Amino acid sequence: MSLFKLINRFVEVYKIETLGALDGPGIRTVIFLQGCPMRCAYCHNADSWRLGVGDGEIMSLQSLYDLALRYKPYYKNGGGVTFSGGEALMQAQALMPLVHALKKAGIHITLDTSGSITDKAAMKLIDAVDLVILDIKATEEDFHQSLTGHSMEKPMHVLNHLKKTEKPYWIRQVVLKGHYDTEAQKRLLDALTEHPSRERLEFLPYHNLGMDKWSDWQMKYRKEF
Ligand code: SF4
Repeated sequence: MSLFKLINRFVEVYKIETLGALDGPGIRTVIFLQGCPMRCAYCHNADSWRLGVGDGEIMSLQSLYDLALRYKPYYKNGGGVTFSGGEALMQAQALMPLVHALKKAGIHITLDTSGSITDKAAMKLIDAVDLVILDIKATEEDFHQSLTGHSMEKPMHVLNHLKKTEKPYWIRQVVLKGHYDTEAQKRLLDALTEHPSRERLEFLPYHNLGMDKWSDWQMKYRKEF
């Protein structure tokens, strides 16, 4: 990848975490991209939703590449770079040269996604990374719609693609009171996502740390979970 291609290409970034230990194996630089099509009722990053209206920071791929390489000595035990969001797939095409450059530099790439975009660029990015963390918001269509404002069709398409291509993947789900807090519900997600390429199945505790952002935006936060 020529230097020119990274200097003259840009993405909109929500925030960056260096030395992150939660979003993939090992120690990682986590780049959260601005923009998300989903509207999860418990989202703690509601200020990451809008793309192209000045909410995030425009950064060159070169500056992100330089940052990622600066922390390379820490990427032991499978560490590397994670693209998260918002929804990183919203900027899939713009991100591709960076993914290629990082891979060429020997850096492990993880994509943390809700699987809510399945266009050609998104599927190409999924194919290019080393590991996908797929956040499955719900396992029933009606509840998925009410929770996120979207059908579960696209996340299921991504899940099936991961299985078909044998891409290593982790599954995550936030445990919501009254919905995904029973052993039976957990077994349902286990059965739905089971495959030899699935490396982990993780249930994350619900928290309402982002609740204040919703009132800042004059939106109603659903507190029932
Ligand atoms: S997918 Fe993530 S960033 Fe998007 S609305 Fe849901 S929780 Fe928020």
